[in-house]
Amino acid sequence: MADSELVFAPLGGVGEIGMNLSIYGLGDPRQRKWLIVDVGVSFATEEHQPGVDLMMPDISYLVEERRNLAGIVLTHAHEDHFGALLDLWPKLRVPVYATPFTAALLEAKRLGEPGAPEIPVRQVALGSRFNIGPFDIELVSMAHSIPESNALILRTPHGNVLHTGDWKLDPTPVIGEPTDEAKLRALGEEGCLALVGDSTNAVREGRSPSESDVAKTLAELITSAPARVAVTTFASNVARIRAVAQAARACDREVVVVGRAMDRIVQVARETGYLDDAQEFRGQDVYGHLPSDKVVALCTGSQGEARAALARIAQDEHPEVTLARGDRVIFSSRPIPGNEKAISTVINGLIDQGIEVITDRTHLVHVSGHPRREELAELISWVRPQLLIPVHGEALHLSEHAALARQCGVAVGTCRNGDVVKLGPGDPGIVDEIPTGRLYKDGKILISAEGRTIADRRRLSFAGFVSVALALTDKGQLAADPEVELFGIPEQTEAKESMAEIAYDAIVETFETLPKQRRRDPDAVEEAVRRGVRAALAESWGKKPLVHVHVLVV
Ligand SMILES: [Zn+2]
Ligand SMILES: [Zn+2]
Repeated sequence: MADSELVFAPLGGVGEIGMNLSIYGLGDPRQRKWLIVDVGVSFATEEHQPGVDLMMPDISYLVEERRNLAGIVLTHAHEDHFGALLDLWPKLRVPVYATPFTAALLEAKRLGEPGAPEIPVRQVALGSRFNIGPFDIELVSMAHSIPESNALILRTPHGNVLHTGDWKLDPTPVIGEPTDEAKLRALGEEGCLALVGDSTNAVREGRSPSESDVAKTLAELITSAPARVAVTTFASNVARIRAVAQAARACDREVVVVGRAMDRIVQVARETGYLDDAQEFRGQDVYGHLPSDKVVALCTGSQGEARAALARIAQDEHPEVTLARGDRVIFSSRPIPGNEKAISTVINGLIDQGIEVITDRTHLVHVSGHPRREELAELISWVRPQLLIPVHGEALHLSEHAALARQCGVAVGTCRNGDVVKLGPGDPGIVDEIPTGRLYKDGKILISAEGRTIADRRRLSFAGFVSVALALTDKGQLAADPEVELFGIPEQTEAKESMAEIAYDAIVETFETLPKQRRRDPDAVEEAVRRGVRAALAESWGKKPLVHVHVLVV
């Protein structure tokens, strides 16, 4: 394999939250085989991407390279790692490898989305070793905030790579095994060329508390509640669901599951054995019949999502589940950046009704699933990589992770989305660049983030829209009065002038000042009138709307 090399390239997830998609290439640079690790999304915000649901990496390069793709391996079932698969897989059509819980959750998600593709998922056992094309892969179980988070060991002729996925060191994770320290130490003995690692919490000192500590707090808060209790958490956190179930049982309360995403997870967790020792949960139809000190509602909506259970309960719009003065709501979660306002709205709505709200600001009701600095240093000490590449974080997280690695005596390779990093043989470094970008899921359609759609929509939301229709004769005269309609624009100026009239006057004036021969050119009329209307409205209003002029020659 004289010409062979091993490369790593992130297509998403570096310098941003979410959208994790990394590729490893092995072989002659002219004909590499690629392994895709994770196919994640991130969530759009109404402010920056109005009307868009999801954002995902642009995979045009992988589509071009399709015949060289060996397969896709999913580290775990968080949306930022597997959420784009149903949308992007049809462009790739390669086998997908996942552990049982991830596979089951993917299937449940697929069934919930009409028209979603049937993806051939090859289930692999926790801790197993298998081949995907030329890639020799071994899974390492890691503690995280969802069952079955896996790190990957890639063994290649050029050395071994540890791709950590999402992880923390939690000796008592409530569900599943703790992080497989023995296997990681063994990798250190065997030798590790590069560690590609989670940087999410690299700015936080110390160690993250355990899921078991959270379980204790939840048990106290549920037991001591005078009336109804509602707990909201990330639906995928099965350990948290189990902790709520145990707490409820200890004080003789029923668990009522509220919200579709929560139902789905509970079902998948039962199928895969993660809730074997938990009591049966109840449907929301029985909620109203249970005494107030005999119920815990387990709700979706911890991020303030308007359509999720908790927001509807807070607005008193839920058909079956209600809360009242004296009840207690526990946010067993943390705001994902961008969701703070929506969450405040829900919390304020609850407090206005006299409902007690408990969050992680005052109680240990949530822990992150990502490693803090002592945990990062500990992993480095076990694995002793020659090179560390920080991924999964914004610039600050990546640079803090890099600084920590250097303190531990490890060389650091930094890269951006699209950089192709040669890991071996020889000195590591960026050797190539792959075009990258973002796709937006807009309704049912995937669009490029670079296109006009969302930029136009942002302008529409900021400054409205003017529609103008002009009928011209073939001699270049107005055949009728121009039509003008304003959308999302104030009706009057401060001086009570009609904005529609300002637009109308601008149309007529612009038209009449055009030289005669240009009036016969519909394109010239269109452009001149568009500019004239925009300028006139901007002068009175201080903002420039989108203007569309339609010229019809009659
Ligand atoms: Zn993640
Ligand atoms: Zn995760």
